[in-house]
Amino acid sequence: MKPLLELKNVCYAYHSRAGETPALKDISFQVRQGEFIAVVGPSGCGKSTLLSLISGLLVPESGSVLFADGDGGGARREVAADSALREKIGYMLQKDHLFEWRTVYRNVTLGLEIQHRLNEENRAKIEKMLRDYGLERFRDARPSELSGGMRQRAALIRTLALGPELLLLDEPFSALDFQTRLAVCNDVSAILHREKKTALLVTHDLSEAVSMADRILVLTKRPAQIQNILELKFEEPGLSPLARRNTREFQEYFNLLWEEMNDHV
Ligand code: ADP
Ligand code: MG
Repeated sequence: MKPLLELKNVCYAYHSRAGETPALKDISFQVRQGEFIAVVGPSGCGKSTLLSLISGLLVPESGSVLFADGDGGGARREVAADSALREKIGYMLQKDHLFEWRTVYRNVTLGLEIQHRLNEENRAKIEKMLRDYGLERFRDARPSELSGGMRQRAALIRTLALGPELLLLDEPFSALDFQTRLAVCNDVSAILHREKKTALLVTHDLSEAVSMADRILVLTKRPAQIQNILELKFEEPGLSPLARRNTREFQEYFNLLWEEMNDHV
């Protein structure tokens, strides 16, 4: 099967008056439909930059980001050059970017409003997600009245409401306390599996990566290159992130990843 997403020799540097900051160097990998990829690497190595390139917000200096158009029989095109393609990619940024002057409901519908797709069907979808994620009672509240976990869920609903084929998540759980984080991880993972979404998750939490991913992309320090790609295999398939944490494999992969990250610091 052709990959949904393919990066070929992607390089990127930021330019400012102070000079050049190389962020990514020669990044190549493929992601299959339905796969969950975690991206880990030292702070400041280029993880957020990688997601911005995949989303088409940034354009590679060299190399290419190719995305298969689901309706196009798998023909892959350059993300940066194709706005219709970019709409199939949902990007949840590190900050939740909820607007204080809008209610929760009007925040989660914002993306659809902008794309002129706030129709009956999509409204019903949003209503269901608000119920499922325990935000129904807060639909008329302002973001500042929500807890960190609720804000994160609202941001996720806004992203999922657009029906993306590929979901990019940049440290979406980092503002949550540990307890909430485990619960939200479980929820998100269940939703993504149920909806058969393909996802890339940037995280600095190695245990989160091991509990959620099919494969883990390990990046080197800046400029990020691919140090390794770990494929995770659990004896029992389909375990929730919480259940994974209680397995023997979880410990093994965690230790492996820990060594991988510390060998190269
Ligand atoms: P990470 O998400 O892995 O922490 P980033 O992708 O945000 O790292 O940043 C990678 C490097 O690029 C960092 O050294 C950062 O300072 C630099 N950088 C990020 N954004 C910009 C920008 N807009 N202009 C200049 N340098 C930037
Ligand atoms: Mg970042």
